Parts: sequence; C-alpha cells; structure tokens
Amino acid sequence: MEKIRTLRGFRDIFGEELGKFKRIEQAFRKYSARFGFREIELPILEKTELFVRSIGDTTDIVEKEMFTFMDAGGDSLSMRPEATAGMVRSYLQEGLYATERMTKVCTIGPMFRHERPQKGRYRQFHQIDVEVFGVKEPLVDAELILLVRMLLDELEIRRYRIEVNSVGCKMCRESFRRILIDFFETRKDELCGDCLRRLEKNPLRIFDCKNQQCIGVTADSPLLFDSLCEECKDHFDLFRQYVAGFGVDIEVNKRLVRGLDYYTKTVFEITSDDLGAQKAFIAGGRYDNLVEEMGGPATAGIGFAVGVERLAMLLPPGEAEPGTECFFAGIGDRARDYLTTLLKRCLTEGIPLRYAYEAKSLKAQMRYADNLKCGFVLILGDDEIDRGTITLRDMTGKSQDELPLDADTIVNTLKKRLSGQAPALSTRDG
Ligand SMILES: [Zn+2]
Ligand SMILES: [Zn+2]
Repeated sequence: MEKIRTLRGFRDIFGEELGKFKRIEQAFRKYSARFGFREIELPILEKTELFVRSIGDTTDIVEKEMFTFMDAGGDSLSMRPEATAGMVRSYLQEGLYATERMTKVCTIGPMFRHERPQKGRYRQFHQIDVEVFGVKEPLVDAELILLVRMLLDELEIRRYRIEVNSVGCKMCRESFRRILIDFFETRKDELCGDCLRRLEKNPLRIFDCKNQQCIGVTADSPLLFDSLCEECKDHFDLFRQYVAGFGVDIEVNKRLVRGLDYYTKTVFEITSDDLGAQKAFIAGGRYDNLVEEMGGPATAGIGFAVGVERLAMLLPPGEAEPGTECFFAGIGDRARDYLTTLLKRCLTEGIPLRYAYEAKSLKAQMRYADNLKCGFVLILGDDEIDRGTITLRDMTGKSQDELPLDADTIVNTLKKRLSGQAPALSTRDG
C-alpha cells in the first residue's frame, strides 16, 4: 500500500533541529519573563476577516498566502499567517485595555502561509511573537531591541545586523504618498503588473517587490524617511538615543519597509548574511493605529516576531553531551528480577536507566547499550549475584569496577560518575 506523506511544505521536526528549537524557546522564556512579558496561547484558526482587516487586503500575505476555507456554516476561516492580528483580537476581546495601563504579551507557535516551498521556507513554520500595548514612548521600542540583543547573546549568535527605519504616521505617509505617486508615474513603463496595481492601491508596497526591474526603480525613488513629520522624526531620534544608551549597535536603513500595512513609526529587521537571499530572521515594528482600526480604543502598539526555523539555522550544532544514560544488562532470571528494584530507584533519583525489554545474551545487550550510546553499563549475572556484587563498565574509558550489589551504593556511584567527578564519559549526538 502507498505510504501517506506530509503535505507539501509541511514536515516533522525532530532530533538536532528540535533540540535547537528547544534551546531557542528556553532562552526566549528566560528573557521574556525578565522583561515582564506574559505568555499567552492563541487559536490557530480565526475568522478570515481578522487578518484581512489587520494585515491589509493588498498585502501578499492576505492576497496570496493564507490557508483559507469555508466551514460548514459558510464562514470564511483562515489559519493564522502571523500572530499580531490574534494578539490584538485577544487584547480587545479579553478587555485588557480597560484593566491594564500597559500590556506585555508573548506567544510561541506555528504559523501558516501558502508560499512556494523553498530552502528553509515551509508552509507551517514557527514564530516567537512579542507585543506591547499602550506605550507610545520610544523607550519601549529601544527596550525591544535590547531584548533581541540579549536573546541573541544568550544563544551565542554574533553575526547579524539590526536595521531600523521609521515609516512615519498617517500624516507623513499621506504627504509622501503623493510624492511617491508622482515619481512612479514617470517610471510607469518599468514597473511589473503587480506594482502597477500597487501604484493605485498602495504605492508603498512597491518597495516590497522582488522583481529586479522594480527594485531598480525604487533605488531612485524619494524616501519616506525624508518626509517624516516633526513628531515622527523626534520619536525616531529618541529611539536611537535610547538604543545607544543600551550600548546596542543599529544601522538606519531608510529603505526598510515591512510587508504589512499596519506599521507606523519604528520598524526593524535583524538580518544575517549567513541566511542566503532572505536575510531577515527577526522583524517587527510599531503599529499605533491598529488597535483602533480593529474596533478598540486608540492604543499604541509595538512588537516583533522571531522566525524560529531561520534562527535555528544560525545556531551552532548542539554541544555533544556526555553519555548521561546507564544501561542495565541482566543475564538470567535472578538478575532480571533485580531490574525492577534498580529501575524504579534510578528513575526516582534522576538517573536515566535503559535496558533490553527481552532477555537476550550479554553480547546482544552490550550491542544494544552501544547503539543507545549509553555511558555506563551495569552487568549482573548469576556469578555476580552469588558474590554479592555488580559490575559497572565505563563505556568510554573501557574500564570496569565491581560494586557491592546494594541499591544505595549503585545509585550513589552512578550519580558521582554522571556528574563528571569521574573521567570523561562518552559523547552523544543531538
Ligand atoms: Zn508623522
Ligand atoms: Zn514590481
């Protein structure tokens, strides 16, 4: 019969890569808690309208990339392509704006986009998401940059750039829009079909185009950064001062425009040349109008998302752990009976103990222990039982000792050996 496989762009994550995911989660939880973020679990499935209204109906995500379908009741539902929309929905639905002066929340989980799968890109991918509601001061923008920096330091990632820009407010964007339309009108014949459409609906989107000719045109275009209003300019300058105060290096990239409609003022991307063409692995920014546009009170917001798959690609391989597992090789019925006593004791004391489920020859059991890369093997047969001893073999040093057949002694000896008070142990991958 034909085997059933995962859907295109979906996959199993295990072994070394899963180990990296766990390290990222751990590092993130450590620092998000320190910065006062509260974790929240959001639904994966939401009404399509939530994403259309928040992300914007002319964005690539909403136009081309969402997993959208009708349910039996005729409602259009979508798998979340990102987390901010759901965060805003939750903030409003749970009424946090009414009870908290400011809200710091974060979440970790899978997101879904129907993109053409390519290297390092999947249709189900994972994001860490961080949002702050209710603070318009640029100190919080700088604080998020500090959080990113600490997270990357913790993960020992050093080769990256923090690129920042300001995309302004409604006011500066409206005046810039006219300047931009005037410019692109003069270069219309060089733009792709998508960009001609963008020119009418949302000319800022033209900066997202991957078409080489369009990129050539945008290289000559006027910049929003040069049309910022006083308030946005001051906000951005203060942000840069605070970041400098934190001792974090950033680069202003006046061409940085995030591919979502809701951003205002500060936007940022963390990029690495080690990632190939799509360099960004963390991205975020401010969205001071989104909560209001989603039906809530006027509330400032800012956040960022970490692409977990991409961040994992930057992590060094997991350090080979010493063989932290022990193996019990019992030969004969009397020895096998001793297994249950020893097994329960070891597991209670925090010592991982493996064994063969079937009674096999010593040779077969040793092969099994080797295969599991166990650091130590306890060998018990009739001879040992008659002498009142058990043999402890160090699989790396290939040395062995006789210990009294007494659970206390065995457990204490194993603990000492495993905690590194003994010579080098074997290594394990992943
Ligand atoms: Zn402005
Ligand atoms: Zn284009």
